[in-house]
Amino acid sequence: MTESCLNELYNLVDKEKIFINEPMSRHTSFKIGGPAEVFVKATTINDIRNVIQFTRKNNMPLNIIGNGSNLLVKDEGIKGIVLKPQLTQIKIEKENNDINVRVESGVTIGYLAQKLLQESITGFEELSGIPGTIGGAVRMNAGAHGKEIKDIVEKTTYMDMQGDIHTITNKDHQFQYRNSIFIKEKYIVIETTFKLKSGNKETIKTKMEEFLKWRKENQPLDYPNAGSTFKRGKNFVTAKIIDECGLKGFSVGGAQVSTKHAGFIINTGNATAKDVLSLIDYVTQQVYSKTGEKIELEIEVI
Ligand SMILES: Cc1cc2nc3c(=O)[nH]c(=O)nc-3n(C[C@H](O)[C@H](O)[C@H](O)COP(=O)(O)OP(=O)(O)OC[C@H]3O[C@@H](n4cnc5c(N)ncnc54)[C@H](O)[C@@H]3O)c2cc1C
Repeated sequence: MTESCLNELYNLVDKEKIFINEPMSRHTSFKIGGPAEVFVKATTINDIRNVIQFTRKNNMPLNIIGNGSNLLVKDEGIKGIVLKPQLTQIKIEKENNDINVRVESGVTIGYLAQKLLQESITGFEELSGIPGTIGGAVRMNAGAHGKEIKDIVEKTTYMDMQGDIHTITNKDHQFQYRNSIFIKEKYIVIETTFKLKSGNKETIKTKMEEFLKWRKENQPLDYPNAGSTFKRGKNFVTAKIIDECGLKGFSVGGAQVSTKHAGFIINTGNATAKDVLSLIDYVTQQVYSKTGEKIELEIEVI
């Protein structure tokens, strides 16, 4: 980015929120990824609007990141601006037994789950162990233990690429398995309202602990990863067929098909994005040649 462009950006967003050549390995759960040319932590709606308008005016690429828990950033890094919305308000509105919880997109799922537990609010326990932000979870229609974000969303407020704000109700999210309107359209989630219920604190706590225990027992949480690398198949369990193809433990450089859960690729230490991509290609080809099934990526590659 030229110096004059950067000075223009400094006039729009506080300097301390702007990071030049920021290693994306610091912002992804895989701990992989080259530098973002410019990384902006946006703490206000105005910051987000200013960055959108700046990138449009200067014809610059714009990428959005939440907690980086579903992303593989390539080793050569990201040109233009990477914007991390860090809006973190939670507002709880009670109407008899129904409770509307308005959550800004930068709040992490884990933080929200703890807040709901404190307030004895039920309906979110299944999702509590997903390591992302609300923005990322709404976009991906994240889900676990038989529940998806779509089951509890009332409405979402987003910003379009003109900087205008809109609000949509549940059906307009076009939710499907790991899919929503936010994948088709480049909109930025600002805030989502969840419809939840008042519950019993001890029951909520027990459920959350059970789900967390399941994760610890079944997922390779002691190594950096980005969750399930591949989507669930229509009529097969992807991790199971990867395992049946004998690929558990197979490595390329520092990237390995987890020995604990074949659906996860882990970073055993010094994996590059190139290692992960080569391993993904190998696994995809092996599964296709041995079973005839085409497996699809769940993680996003930038
Ligand atoms: C150990 C582990 C376990 C996991 N388990 C699950 C699971 O059980 N279920 C599941 O569904 N997923 C799971 N995941 C994947 C991941 O946590 C989810 O996909 C999560 O919703 C991603 O959120 P994020 O904030 O990290 O998004 P990121 O990875 O940062 O981004 C994902 C996408 O969302 C977009 N995005 C982020 N914020 C916004 C915003 N405010 N507005 C618009 N777009 C935005 C990004 O541009 C990107 O395209 C797991 C990941 C890990 C590492």
